Amino acid sequence: MNFDLTPEQDQLRDAVRALGRRYGHGYFVEKAKAGEHTTELWNEAGRLGYLGVNIPTEYGGGGGGITELAIVCEELAAAGCPLLLLVVSPAIAATVINKHGTDEQRKRYLPGFADGSLKVVFAITEPEAGSNFHRLGTVARRDGDDWLLSGRKCYISGVDEARYVLVVARTEDESTGKLKPALFIVPTDAPGLTRSKLDMEILSPENQFLLYLDDVRLPADALVGESLDAGLPALFAGLNPERITVAAMGAGTGRYAIERASEYTATRKVWGGRSIGSHQGVSHPLAHAAVQVELARLMIHKAAALYDAGRDLEAGVSGNMAKYAAGEAAALAVDTAVQALGGAGMTTEYGVATLLGAVRAGRIAPVSREMVLNFVAQHVLGQEKSY
Ligand SMILES: Cc1cc2nc3c(=O)[nH]c(=O)nc-3n(C[C@H](O)[C@H](O)[C@H](O)COP(=O)(O)OP(=O)(O)OC[C@H]3O[C@@H](n4cnc5c(N)ncnc54)[C@H](O)[C@@H]3O)c2cc1C
Repeated sequence: MNFDLTPEQDQLRDAVRALGRRYGHGYFVEKAKAGEHTTELWNEAGRLGYLGVNIPTEYGGGGGGITELAIVCEELAAAGCPLLLLVVSPAIAATVINKHGTDEQRKRYLPGFADGSLKVVFAITEPEAGSNFHRLGTVARRDGDDWLLSGRKCYISGVDEARYVLVVARTEDESTGKLKPALFIVPTDAPGLTRSKLDMEILSPENQFLLYLDDVRLPADALVGESLDAGLPALFAGLNPERITVAAMGAGTGRYAIERASEYTATRKVWGGRSIGSHQGVSHPLAHAAVQVELARLMIHKAAALYDAGRDLEAGVSGNMAKYAAGEAAALAVDTAVQALGGAGMTTEYGVATLLGAVRAGRIAPVSREMVLNFVAQHVLGQEKSY
């Protein structure tokens, strides 16, 4: 058993950490408050090859796996820049196209993922279906060689920044009522596709949208894969990378918050000569949060290693567990850090309360803690499916 990163992974981690720190949480907050995006950071990370670490070298990527992408997600978050677009674009969309796209789609899209110049977001959630994706109501109908897509999606992140959105739809010829999903690469400026920004209580430069698809006409090659049979495996291909990278983002955010709080409590003195961190009522909750974050990190490394070894089923279990653990640990770490900083914890300047909304959302999205527990109860504990 080896818990060490390879020298290349170590170098990647150090380099991404340095880049993240150069921008820092102040930059992230400033962009969010101005209603702007973290374009400079994204573009620089793309130029340096960090956004394409998991793209095969033949398309200009780093030739690594989800382990490498998780390192990028964690280190940027640990520098105070948790970028959700890393989860939707390189982790989900690029993986789906790489693993299940046609040769033509790989040639067309992967080079853009490799240097970060292409952002593709992901739309599965619908107002009526929610966690139950078997109820998806977005329909794709054939019209000659073309496809026509109609339906509604909600909470879709980053649509305003992306050139395409990968839309999960149900194919209309399904008479049995059984879900036969298909994925479509839809230009965000396609006629018939409109969006409205949701007001979210999350301080982030990345936004969520309601999407309306009203007979959006797409050419035949917008369908991911050679045939409709590619749909279900393509959809599942995105799940493990999503769980693992969002977990890495949570672990990084937890590290960031604990580091901010520990720096503060080690130097803040209000009872004579001793720091507030010398009081165990302050230091133990931080230490406890650090333990939870480290446990989540171990699970993330395990899930990523299994995924990169092609052990998808095991990676599914570990990835879900990692996502759950990291979501809980991040929320605990940020809340504990706010408390340890006292009033300073609630200021923008100290940069921890600014993450409360994001870590709270991390227990709901992209898969809620309850749905992970359902998965573990059913697939690990052998319990009857409850829904
Ligand atoms: C910040 C943010 C970004 C997002 N980005 C995207 C995106 O880019 N693309 C995208 O497609 N979606 C996105 N989502 C949507 C997200 O994936 C969903 O919010 C999530 O899957 C939960 O679905 P829901 O909100 O409809 O909750 P619901 O399904 O309505 O569930 C509500 C509550 O009930 C619980 N619940 C539901 N069913 C069960 C059950 N069987 N057993 C136990 N508990 C249950 C849930 O866990 C939850 O706590 C985003 C959401 C947020 C908050």
